[in-house]
Amino acid sequence: METLGVLLTFPMNPYLEEELDRRCNLFRLWESPPESRCEFLRAHAGSIRAVVGNATCGADADTIDALPKLEIISSFSVGLDKIDLEKCRQRGIRVTNTPDVLTEDTADLAIGLAIAVLRRIPQADRYVRSGSWKSKGDYKLTNKFSGKTVGIIGLGRIGMAVAKRAEAFDCPISYHSRSEKPGTNYKYYSTVVDLAANCQVLVVACALTPETRHIVNREVMDALGPKGVLINIGRGPHVDEAELVKALVEGRLGGAGIDVFEQEPHVPEELFDLENVVLLPHVGSGTVETRKAMADLVLGNLEAHCTNKPLLTPVI
Ligand code: NAP
Repeated sequence: METLGVLLTFPMNPYLEEELDRRCNLFRLWESPPESRCEFLRAHAGSIRAVVGNATCGADADTIDALPKLEIISSFSVGLDKIDLEKCRQRGIRVTNTPDVLTEDTADLAIGLAIAVLRRIPQADRYVRSGSWKSKGDYKLTNKFSGKTVGIIGLGRIGMAVAKRAEAFDCPISYHSRSEKPGTNYKYYSTVVDLAANCQVLVVACALTPETRHIVNREVMDALGPKGVLINIGRGPHVDEAELVKALVEGRLGGAGIDVFEQEPHVPEELFDLENVVLLPHVGSGTVETRKAMADLVLGNLEAHCTNKPLLTPVI
């Protein structure tokens, strides 16, 4: 791979960066200031044959257009929403992602968020640390997770893993996706509103596409209702964030556990004072073990491309 020119879009993982630096001809996009990115790309366009991006910075149409020698985009994420897939198809550029290796962590986090919101774990932790337990007495009662009806938007790899985990908590499972999945006993709803109206914890686990943008809108939040809890471990734009803030502030939604936001790293400050929300900085796959496995998959795909072997996890 020594001759492969690779553009790394963002400092996403030290191990991946070190390996790319050791094994390829690496270009670090973030080292050039935003106003001179075009010049940077123009200067290296003759050498860059691969892009490695992630959920923060992928390869949009302008980046792809600026790289006439581009052959492959290997994403350090399973989500493909930051890559212009249509342009890649037109140009014959290969695309890979990192499915499966991050499924368990992301599903674990969805369950962790649901329990954290219902049992108020971060709030109770703060109660102890602030000395309130001593001065004010026992913490207030919270709500049970076990047995709650869990509705999942997108019964794919992560959605299935959330369902499997929730089943162990005796939660009845229902879901919505574009088509009913044969081979499961979970209840299917053909609309998100019906799913939300018939579950107590609604988990967003679908891919972000133009159709799923704001799939959780005001109507869905109202259907979930003042006792319902929304968990988003998909992508920020799945949820109409302005409506989410209103629903929580007005008490029309019971609570929310959110790992992803519309304008990361910006989070609506109105959420900071709410007792019924748990906010995380997009850490679904953020464990040492999983990020190493994702990095190895990115490297494996680039290696396969360079040696004319089948790609490990091809998208295009
Ligand atoms: P996957 O196996 O491809 O599952 C995606 C699911 O989305 C599919 O089951 C698909 O079902 C459903 N879907 C697609 N379009 C839909 C639509 N219009 N309406 C309803 N459902 C739709 O992907 P995955 O590996 O489970 O990952 C899912 C997503 O999780 C990723 O795309 C990524 O954005 C997100 N993610 C987040 C983190 C994090 O750090 N928080 C980590 C990993 C992944 P149908 O085809 O039947 O509609």
